[in-house]
Amino acid sequence: MMDCMATSKRNGREEGEKSLLRYSSGTIYAKTLAGNRTLVKNVSFSIRKGEKLSLIGETGSGKTMIALSLMGKLAPNVKTEGLQCILDGKDCSHPKVASSLLGREVAYIPQNGMEFLNPSRTVKHHLYDSLHRAGVRSAEAKDKAASALSSVGFRDIDEILKSYPFQLSGGMAQRVTVALALCTRAKLIIADEPTNGLDKEAASRMLEHLGLLFPDAGQLFITHDIGVASNADRILVLCGGRTMEHGKSFLLQNPRNAYTKGLVSSLVSNGMKATPTLRKRTGCPFSDRCPEYSERCRDERIHQREGEHEWWCNG
Ligand code: SF4
Repeated sequence: MMDCMATSKRNGREEGEKSLLRYSSGTIYAKTLAGNRTLVKNVSFSIRKGEKLSLIGETGSGKTMIALSLMGKLAPNVKTEGLQCILDGKDCSHPKVASSLLGREVAYIPQNGMEFLNPSRTVKHHLYDSLHRAGVRSAEAKDKAASALSSVGFRDIDEILKSYPFQLSGGMAQRVTVALALCTRAKLIIADEPTNGLDKEAASRMLEHLGLLFPDAGQLFITHDIGVASNADRILVLCGGRTMEHGKSFLLQNPRNAYTKGLVSSLVSNGMKATPTLRKRTGCPFSDRCPEYSERCRDERIHQREGEHEWWCNG
């Protein structure tokens, strides 16, 4: 089957029945003065309860667009056609429904805690807002806020509660965003480059924390970092808004798609170089840079599968 996102109908049905989240992007495109520009096409995945999935690819590969579409937060000039998103049986394909779940059933952990937090509000205000949004009564808010901060490793809770973001280090601000997510009791966590700006030790602590703090939630990591991606149960590799490879995280030890091979061996610039955006082309979005390129890649990619591991490549 050429360049097709669908798995077999039977596998899809079985997967769907067990999934917490079922996502299918359809086409996500930007309306520009020069016409419509496709940003993401036919990317599908599912996440089970307690499962972690990493979306990995360079800047411009479509990871953030997918995350924004899940939260109903695409820019006004970015439109979708055929987007389907089902969270725990609830259809949240419409942006209004998706955004209404944010802070309740869906929690977002940003890549830069310091930029994400409102500089004019204390940590206490942030946490209380989040708890209020999640429906926690005011009488319970203090204990819940203290518990969330304690869960992410803060000891002097009173001091942190009255702090403004500029009084925190980058790592502390990032931990506050995780505490905010904890206040939601979310079913789905979307973590956008959650270890950005953290040193290796703090990054590994953060990833360990996320696993321990949200054992039942589905977790979606958006990352260009192979180390972060490999922390997940499954990985979906994106290039130019298309799926290149998808499977259990050990696929990184034996990548089959030429783009994934490049990412793993750092032949592809790690997160620094934008991938070509899709226009009307039907072939592989990596064809201009691929060391395994053949004429066929201009028009099509072969879908190949071994068990749960699937990839789209002619190499
Ligand atoms: S071999 Fe062809 S299909 Fe595979 S990544 Fe390279 S250009 Fe794309």
